[in-house]
Amino acid sequence: MAPKAKGASPPAKSVVPASFWLAGTRWKVERVAHLADLGCCLRDEATIRIRAGLPQQVEESTFCHELLHALKFTMGVDSEKHDEQEIDAMGGLLHQFLITRGD
Ligand SMILES: [Zn+2]
Repeated sequence: MAPKAKGASPPAKSVVPASFWLAGTRWKVERVAHLADLGCCLRDEATIRIRAGLPQQVEESTFCHELLHALKFTMGVDSEKHDEQEIDAMGGLLHQFLITRGD
């Protein structure tokens, strides 16, 4: 039997769901080819779009960023009042929490 590589673990399950609920609205997550940005959050369609084919960690951190936009929209905050710097920082922290949490 081949020795197990130290520290090796099975590939992590993605934290990106197919859909989720916020305040009674079902949001969808779609992967789209040829998206100009890494992701976008469409309030009126309750949809998060993520560019298809991204590495898992980039896809996950993009989802966390767009999820925070969805939370802000759900809280009634218009997009021009979304603080991109804050959302970027919080998205990074949320992503780290999700991928490092214990069982
Ligand atoms: Zn943003």
